[in-house]
Amino acid sequence: MHAVLKIDGISKAYGSIQALKNVSLEIPKGSVFGILGPNGSGKTTLMSIVLDILKADSGSYSWFNEPNHPAERKKIGTLLETPNFYHYLSAVDNLNITHAISGRGSAAAIDEVLEIVKLTERKKSKFSAYSLGMKQRLAIGAALLGNPEILLLDEPTNGLDPVGIAEIRELIIRLAQKGITIIIASHLLDEIEKICSHVAILKKGHLLTTGTVDEVLSNEDIIELSAANLSGLKKCIQDLGGFSSIKALENRIQVFYPFGTANMEALNQHCFNNGITLNLLLHKKKSLETKFFELTND
Ligand code: ATP
Repeated sequence: MHAVLKIDGISKAYGSIQALKNVSLEIPKGSVFGILGPNGSGKTTLMSIVLDILKADSGSYSWFNEPNHPAERKKIGTLLETPNFYHYLSAVDNLNITHAISGRGSAAAIDEVLEIVKLTERKKSKFSAYSLGMKQRLAIGAALLGNPEILLLDEPTNGLDPVGIAEIRELIIRLAQKGITIIIASHLLDEIEKICSHVAILKKGHLLTTGTVDEVLSNEDIIELSAANLSGLKKCIQDLGGFSSIKALENRIQVFYPFGTANMEALNQHCFNNGITLNLLLHKKKSLETKFFELTND
């Protein structure tokens, strides 16, 4: 896996509030990566840190495997909050100003960007006449100036109605198809599940889980086990039964059980009774409902 962003053990406190606690994750190139968590879970803090807006208390991160290389920063387009567009100016004029101030993109690229975000027909309308969804698409357009390889979006569908949300979703999917790696912070699990290939789930600054959406939101209990005698372990698990499938990995096995049926204690006891000493017993993935429960239940 080629990671465009590696985050390693980042912690950040605001006074007594621990906003992030030892968060590590990797964002694969070409992924649509959702950073999911309820309000206050640390998503914005994490994004601000990797954009150098905030300083972490500890830990590190690197883009493209090159820590803090200024040239690399130009490859990242961001939408952290709705930018301050001029209400009395058109989309074209606003993007011209963004381009002039940021130095990103070119005057010629503005029409291209407006086409991508589907605002060509309304490009001469005043910003104040735009719907919320159009404003948000223009903001994504501004982030696209300079042909970024990565797009970092904080709550891009905030406040939008279902049509507006669907338009942003469709836009994100199209951008991903162009090969742009997209990182989205959101508290809308449903949205993340629809458009993201990968996800990280934060709660109160802790990383609960990360992986592909299929892995993380799988509706099964997945238990990882290992022992010195791997073949003996596999046979032992097979004898116990109750699972849907078993996958042998290099140095461990993964056992899939219907959701809610894995019993770690019984597994451990059964292995022990059969002379197998486990050196790994891990409940790896949980269901969507369980995730929700963890996220919403204090
Ligand atoms: P939201 O979806 O509400 O933006 P979030 O997941 O992005 O939430 P953060 O904004 O990163 O979360 O906040 C994480 C925690 O840090 C929260 O408890 C928040 O109140 C606190 N926090 C964030 N910024 C500051 C600050 N400047 N000073 C003090 N506390 C802060």
